[in-house]
Amino acid sequence: MGFVRKFLSAEGLLSSIRKSIQRENFSPCRSVYSWEDCIMSGLAVFGLKFPSLLQFEKTRALDPMVGRNLRTLYGIKNTPSDTCMRERLDQVQPEQLRRSFKTIFSHLQRGKALEKYRYLDGHYILSIDGTGQFSSEKVNCVNCCSKKHRNGKTSYYHHMLGAAIVHPDHKVPIPLAPEPIVKGDGDTKNDCERNAAKRLLADFRREHPHLKTIVVEDGLSSNFPHLSLLDLLNIAYIIGAKPGDHKAMFKYLETVSGESYQKIESSGTIHDYQFYHDVPLNESNKDYLVNVLEYTETNKNGVKKCFTWVTKLKISKDNVYEIMRAGRSRWRIENETFNTLKNQGYNFEHNYGHGKENLCSVMTMLMMLAFLVDQVQQLCSKTYQQARKHAGPLKAFFERVRSLVFLGEFKSWETLFIYIGQPDQRAPPTEDWVFRLKQKA
Ligand SMILES: [Zn+2]
Repeated sequence: MGFVRKFLSAEGLLSSIRKSIQRENFSPCRSVYSWEDCIMSGLAVFGLKFPSLLQFEKTRALDPMVGRNLRTLYGIKNTPSDTCMRERLDQVQPEQLRRSFKTIFSHLQRGKALEKYRYLDGHYILSIDGTGQFSSEKVNCVNCCSKKHRNGKTSYYHHMLGAAIVHPDHKVPIPLAPEPIVKGDGDTKNDCERNAAKRLLADFRREHPHLKTIVVEDGLSSNFPHLSLLDLLNIAYIIGAKPGDHKAMFKYLETVSGESYQKIESSGTIHDYQFYHDVPLNESNKDYLVNVLEYTETNKNGVKKCFTWVTKLKISKDNVYEIMRAGRSRWRIENETFNTLKNQGYNFEHNYGHGKENLCSVMTMLMMLAFLVDQVQQLCSKTYQQARKHAGPLKAFFERVRSLVFLGEFKSWETLFIYIGQPDQRAPPTEDWVFRLKQKA
């Protein structure tokens, strides 16, 4: 069996996750539900896109077929009840799920699936951004961030910092382990994200010490402490800069002449670049010098979009187009990661239970892991791609998969995807299956 089929198919990915979980140290448990079974069940909730844990529980309790598919497709020996799953997952540390992300990433590298993500002199573009995942005035846990309002009420919330490898030309972002933003990270949104970013980047460099990386982020991140941390970790950056946050820098740019370059496409779109080298970042960090790219896109109707980025990369006419596109690929984490999780069937903002300690963060990690499994298949598996194409919109595809696990026992994910995507090549149904179809008819 080839490497890609062995490690980057649904079976391979889920088996890697299972093995990664087995390598973690969990407190000994006498329960019939092993830690792997609890975590894989949580993953199955998101893999099969159940809208709630209760729905998952009801379905499983009502229909033994679902349990059989969980066994064959996810390798779950005993599926815990929803209450049991919540209790157990609350005790898992979010870091204990990192190994799964790292292992899959290594397999992607070894299987050469990431080669096409290289950009700008062999770098990988890492897009980082924060998003909210939970907010309540009542429900809370020891790790909730909280905010006191003027009316005396307190709201509790969880945010997370997401990170994904993106590419201007490829629509499939590859997520890395997200970093939960927890209590004590700071008083303002900026503080919180900044502190979580420190952990995320340190973890990233420890796990990927030699990966040539360019971080792309929005304007909130173009501050001295963050940029010098990236330098220290040997990570390049192309980060937005807004005039409001960088008054001194923009004033300085008015006093010097940069280089300009214009390119007009056959479609009529005009690209105007203006770039400068060795610009002081701000008043208090005059010795910290960056290169600045100001860019305006004017489409054929005269509509303009303006961007400014700071970077340490040397900018020239030869690479300015690529630098601009790398900077703009930042939105792929918003549009093609967070928005997909929120609106395309993953139910990102649903409450799957909060727990006393870690449940909220663990559920988010598992959702991101389910997303990673889907993304890798979209990248590497022909049968998956065909099934997705055949089913139409993403949501419809997920519904199809979920409805099929009630219908018959599938020997493998491969047969399930063939069933959806290549109806002419479907395996003959099992007796059980025929029985069910008759019952329905
Ligand atoms: Zn909480």
